[in-house]
Amino acid sequence: MRVWSKTTLKSLFIPGGTLLLGVAVLVYSGWLTLALPSLSFLYYCALIGGMLLAWRFHSSRIFFALVVLFLAQEAIAAFGSGHVSPGTPGGMALQAAAVLVPLDFVLIALMHERGFTVAAVGPVGLFLFVQSVIVAVLCRAAEDLPGSTVRAHHVATAVSLPGYALVVFTAACVFLLVRFLITRKPVDSALLWSLSAFILCLRFAGVARVSTVYSATAACILAASIIENSYLLAYHDELTTLPSRRAFNDALLRLQYPYSIAVVDIDHFKRFNDTYGHDTGDQVLRLVAAGLSRVTGGGHAYRCGGEEFNILFPGKTTSEVVDHLEQLRAAIEDSEFRLRAGERRQAPRGPDRRNERARGRARKGHAIRELAQETPSPLSVTVSIGVATSEEQESDPDLVLQAADKALYRAKANGRNRVEIASSHRRKTRVKAAGIA
Ligand code: GH3
Ligand code: MG
Ligand code: MG
Repeated sequence: MRVWSKTTLKSLFIPGGTLLLGVAVLVYSGWLTLALPSLSFLYYCALIGGMLLAWRFHSSRIFFALVVLFLAQEAIAAFGSGHVSPGTPGGMALQAAAVLVPLDFVLIALMHERGFTVAAVGPVGLFLFVQSVIVAVLCRAAEDLPGSTVRAHHVATAVSLPGYALVVFTAACVFLLVRFLITRKPVDSALLWSLSAFILCLRFAGVARVSTVYSATAACILAASIIENSYLLAYHDELTTLPSRRAFNDALLRLQYPYSIAVVDIDHFKRFNDTYGHDTGDQVLRLVAAGLSRVTGGGHAYRCGGEEFNILFPGKTTSEVVDHLEQLRAAIEDSEFRLRAGERRQAPRGPDRRNERARGRARKGHAIRELAQETPSPLSVTVSIGVATSEEQESDPDLVLQAADKALYRAKANGRNRVEIASSHRRKTRVKAAGIA
């Protein structure tokens, strides 16, 4: 997968980045006319709503990130009451927040999601409690410093954060960005944007309205990531990250004539599972899905069942897509992957044992090619593809899908590892077949 693909940029900036940008534009343009009590109300709504959502969706990481934001805000409010000049208790609370919140967000990003069990929540809760006590002690100590009360009357409009706090913030942002690029999870992008919003909140700590807007935004971004994550789970397949059947059905509703649908099925996949185990089978599914996601010709791949995938080609007829499908089939046939040492299963487990005799016969087949005997062994799989196009303006997508399915059966019957076109088009377009039939 490319690091900066369109999908990656989209999931990085939506919703967190766009939300923060929108709020920044509102603040700078002066269009935000809400009074402080309304903004505070919004902040608490986002905070409490986010916490409830996090609890309901078992996202303890988002919950803790919201708790961290809340504690930081409360510390600044309790010790500063709007006065955050250096050397004052408020200034000390602000500096502590500027350093500790980025560090806490990094720790939260590194945490494993373990829900709301006592074992998972207890240590983090204790850690945050100890941190809060230390901050409170430091702020109290700042109250006793000579001159702190005099400076406390000075209210800055934009607070300049100390250099070391900016270094910690930048390092945390870089870490969260890299982490997002690795995981591509909404929670990691939300931590990044929420932290950015929080730093703006500290920067404008002397202007209560602006500061509250940014703290509400920081909480909103975290809450929105839970909704974004639920959307991804509903519309994407977790194993392969391809869009799921639900997304495919939605896309069918939006289709306009002409369009083509290809149905892709891995050859002898059951045998592959029996031979190498289900986990290796899952690796193969990811490999095939990664290949399918790179389909050319304007196609979009979906995982619609166990090892069955569909590809939609909006605006394309069969003759326009068949070459792209043939390239796809050949690319999957050529791609190899290696079993990690010890991953090759020596003896089948459980129900797979029933297939042992069949597996013996299968070793003669070509569909699963073991290219070398020593471990790790490069393996490859093949796929069969059936494709059909919408015949006329009112073509029912279900009928097109059925026609593609029939073509797929024919591809299987004709020896697998090939592309077959639905019957009515066969006379018009040359059937593409390859190698191992
Ligand atoms: P054919 O060439 O005729 O398609 O043979 P096949 O063995 O691939 O037959 P079929 O398509 O019916 O096999 C489906 C198999 O896919 C059954 C099941 O073991 C496997 N499968 C389905 N979903 C998953 C999954 O999520 N992970 C793994 N590892 N295997 C799966
Ligand atoms: Mg199948
Ligand atoms: Mg199959």
